[in-house]
Amino acid sequence: MIAPLARRLEFHRTRCGNPTSGVMFPNLNGSPMDLGNVLNRAILPALNRCAICGRPKDDCGKPERGPQPTPAHSFERDPSRPEWHGWHAARRGLGTNLYRLGVPEKTIQAILRHANVSTTNTYYIKSAADDTRAAMAKLESLVIGNESAAEPFVSDNDVTTDTADTQAVVIQ
Ligand SMILES: [Zn+2]
Repeated sequence: MIAPLARRLEFHRTRCGNPTSGVMFPNLNGSPMDLGNVLNRAILPALNRCAICGRPKDDCGKPERGPQPTPAHSFERDPSRPEWHGWHAARRGLGTNLYRLGVPEKTIQAILRHANVSTTNTYYIKSAADDTRAAMAKLESLVIGNESAAEPFVSDNDVTTDTADTQAVVIQ
């Protein structure tokens, strides 16, 4: 386990009254937390922030405290924050990032708690081919963007000249 996560879990346990058994992330009834609630109450508000005021979507437009409130505006999602693509994608992203960091596949299998390492390889680690495709798509969009911004392509054979020079060009 990485040290920052260990520290946070230790803090969480202290805050819960230092229990030695039971549910690690209980709801108010002591039952396991509902993942849908975790998504809606913690993950989505952290990801979907307003580009203008920096607040979660639900808070954007509500009265602000402080000396200089942001002027009235409509919510505009901050595109620099990652988008949520579901729990499966979150697990897949974790597997892929660990793989890119050089973590052995058997270790990633253990972290993702897969019974079989082939599941980890097949479904939870984006292949190098995926990376190559993504890189080529990025390059393609960059090239297309530059093409439309630049002057239209003109070959040497198509260069038009002033009327006075046309005769000379024809003679050549
Ligand atoms: Zn806002």
